[in-house]
Amino acid sequence: MQRITILGATGSIGASTLDVLARHPEKYQVHALSAHGRVEQLAAQCRAFRPARAVVGSAEAARHLAQLIADLPTEVDYGEQALCDIAASPDTDTVMAAIVGAAGLAPTLAAARAGKKVLLANKEALVMSGQLFMDAVKEHKATLLPIDSEHNAIFQSLPQSYARSPHAAGVARILLTASGGPFLQRAVETLEEVTPEEACKHPNWVMGRKISVDSATMMNKGLEVIEAHWLFGAPADKIEVVIHPQSVIHSMVSYVDGSVLAQLGNPDMRTPIAHALAFPQRIESGVPQLDLTQMAALQFYQPDFARFPCLALAFDALRAGGTAPAVLNAANEVAVQAFLERRIGFRDIDRLVARVMQDIPHEAAASIEAVMAQDERARRAAAQFAAGRA
Ligand code: NAD
Ligand code: MG
Repeated sequence: MQRITILGATGSIGASTLDVLARHPEKYQVHALSAHGRVEQLAAQCRAFRPARAVVGSAEAARHLAQLIADLPTEVDYGEQALCDIAASPDTDTVMAAIVGAAGLAPTLAAARAGKKVLLANKEALVMSGQLFMDAVKEHKATLLPIDSEHNAIFQSLPQSYARSPHAAGVARILLTASGGPFLQRAVETLEEVTPEEACKHPNWVMGRKISVDSATMMNKGLEVIEAHWLFGAPADKIEVVIHPQSVIHSMVSYVDGSVLAQLGNPDMRTPIAHALAFPQRIESGVPQLDLTQMAALQFYQPDFARFPCLALAFDALRAGGTAPAVLNAANEVAVQAFLERRIGFRDIDRLVARVMQDIPHEAAASIEAVMAQDERARRAAAQFAAGRA
């Protein structure tokens, strides 16, 4: 029995994870679930999976949840320390890190420091803390498996020996595919008028609102470039973004001998989730088999950095190093929230991120405390900018 903690159980990734787990009750047992606000959904999940512990965002939410599941043995708690506890508990083996944004950093890091098998969906945590996170994984002998579909595809397309000797593996480039989001073809001048509803309507994937907006600006791909850098130790100029609107190839690795290995599948996050849960074995995920004869043409293009300035900003942050990716991420989180609340326009997102990156001096990412201090500074600067636009 593998005992699992799901951080962010009520989100899109959390729900897909529970869907896969429910197909294999003999293999997996849910130790703990967390949610920020959606208490009723979490209560239903507790009823179905009977975890030992459930964690929510506030004392009030905890009281509400405790009432809803008073008949269950589940112990209810709230707050960041409780999240870190369920991530690091000796009663759990595997932690699905599926909280959105910087809020996931502390518990995800706690799981790594406790030497857990960490299934990483929460890309923002790795983008912010980069080397520090990878050092914690190594020092505490944690196992880090990517859930992001592209990184999971890259992981599957690399040889097992890659981690031991990347050079001998002969990797030439990592080809990170991107759907291009809902605005790949839209006239650039009209991007100023994009609404939150339009931005959240992704052509291929159903996801949480923050990552949907990130896909529309292509900041998501930018964050994924940084994520790929840390996961696979690849420098920025060996990571190439390829637009592939059909999202059938989830990413590729090209080798020095001219080979290109890819992972394909229907666009459904249950595939990478099942892959990481069972690794190195395979289990059924509920995703239908890919029928290539039913596919239209598969297309590939170079990204247009003028249409998607956020992608260029992320490459800049990666090349700048230190706390620059944390500043990029924090500014973006504030900007996306302001956009979703209709306080700023769609194109203000990239303007705001560029401005904050310019204004906040780069520092070395010497400690998590230093990273969090820069995150705070970037959030304050971003909030000021957003208030100025409103
Ligand atoms: P979502 O918005 O659907 O769910 C987010 C989850 O995090 C919810 O359970 C919510 O309760 C919890 N949460 C939100 N704010 C919190 C806070 N301040 N403290 C504690 N918990 C909080 O998001 P999602 O689409 O499931 O994405 C989750 C993560 O996975 C993101 O980092 C995203 O980039 C990544 N990801 C998602 C997909 C996808 O298909 N949805 C694909 C790849 C990567
Ligand atoms: Mg992805």
